[in-house]
Amino acid sequence: VNEGPSRANDQNDVAVRSAVIAVGDELLLGQTVDTNGAWLGARLAELGAPVTYRSVVGDVEDDIRGEVTRARLRTEVTFVCGGLGPTPDDRTREAVAAELGIGLVVDPLLLDALEQRFKSHGFDELPPDNASQAMMPVGGLVLPNDRGTAPGLVFLSDDAFVILLPGPPREMRWVFDRHVEPLLLERLGPRLVPPTHRLIRTTGIAESVLSERIQHTLPEDLGPVGIAFLPRLTGVDIRLTVRSGSTEAVQGWLDRVEEAIAPVVERYRYDSDHGDLVESLNRELRAGSLTVSTAESCTGGLVARRLTEYAGASDVFLGGVVAYSNQSKIDLLGVDSDLLVRDGAVSEPVVRAMALGACERFGSDASIAVTGVAGPGGGTKTKPVGTVWYAARHRGHTASRVRRFPGDRSAVRERSAQAALALLYDLVIGRGGDRSTTE
Ligand code: AMP
Ligand code: MG
Repeated sequence: VNEGPSRANDQNDVAVRSAVIAVGDELLLGQTVDTNGAWLGARLAELGAPVTYRSVVGDVEDDIRGEVTRARLRTEVTFVCGGLGPTPDDRTREAVAAELGIGLVVDPLLLDALEQRFKSHGFDELPPDNASQAMMPVGGLVLPNDRGTAPGLVFLSDDAFVILLPGPPREMRWVFDRHVEPLLLERLGPRLVPPTHRLIRTTGIAESVLSERIQHTLPEDLGPVGIAFLPRLTGVDIRLTVRSGSTEAVQGWLDRVEEAIAPVVERYRYDSDHGDLVESLNRELRAGSLTVSTAESCTGGLVARRLTEYAGASDVFLGGVVAYSNQSKIDLLGVDSDLLVRDGAVSEPVVRAMALGACERFGSDASIAVTGVAGPGGGTKTKPVGTVWYAARHRGHTASRVRRFPGDRSAVRERSAQAALALLYDLVIGRGGDRSTTE
């Protein structure tokens, strides 16, 4: 248990730390992204053996050797991914064996399986290069790979626990799930402390503001709870983490911190499995037997796409219009041309007329409308790039807002869609506050 508030999501107090070394020239050249490293990072954290050291090296024996030693100084379990293929550029097996001073021997079972595999593919005999894939470390383990020819290998000694995994992601994941996880549980079981997380999703408040307000409301003693802020374009997730204790104690600590920050987050919070506000919005619309439609300009259909992301959208979503030109706003949504001339396409009267038009044209109970300057061109002194008017209509009332969103064109569009969805969500759940005053 930590002394005092633990405000960072700290990995330093865990019992078992892991390292992941990804091997491959293609990774260094940027031709392949190291997704294995990311995947292993997530899985090992869940298992309670988080990755605290990670690196990428080329197919160079000395580099692999150096990296293995560096990793072992910092961690207990080292994973080396890739470079187990049959070609001469795959050096991982030999490099690790040399560095650890552990010999390689032919495993008769592996050799047999390889020969069978090649016969079944119509070859008479095993190509000589492939024989290297039948080698295993002395005193170690073979982790069979049903999805490819290179098995995983475990180098084991009094002070070494180094696990080699094939590079192709679907093979690596299969070997990990099937063999590595049970092996870690068996060898390290009681020392693995899987973290318990609780995610609190927010949208409509900046990370810095949220973090500052939360620091003010937190109790002095958070016990073992760590807090992390995870910002995205669409909002900020607050992640509470506890790494030890009985289930009841853990839930108790999490409840206590969640209650403490509730007053800060209540206006911005939504609950969803995938972290998508639309899950919550669609759930509320469905519960109220409400239908929704959209009228979009600068978001070009993004709001409609978001609303249709999940199965069952047809229960609530009737349709949408992308009305990009002034004429289409007039023809398709019934926006008064006088408004467009007087106030311009990016204006409060126009966005409200768009929201009304959508409800009327589609016969929906609710609607969302967006019009703005996504950039990079098109900004003016009074309406600079990022200026966006959005509106939500619900049970005959329209709420409208203007924001000046930061970021490039894509970021402005993402943020606009999210803000507009959040406005309707606030109206539907009857949430008060500055974001949802109904006019
Ligand atoms: P290798 O085991 O080095 O022969 O890798 C075979 C293939 O697996 C490579 O060509 C990559 O496409 C893929 N691969 C290897 N390492 C990684 C990695 N760290 N992340 C994602 N893909 C990888
Ligand atoms: Mg390779």
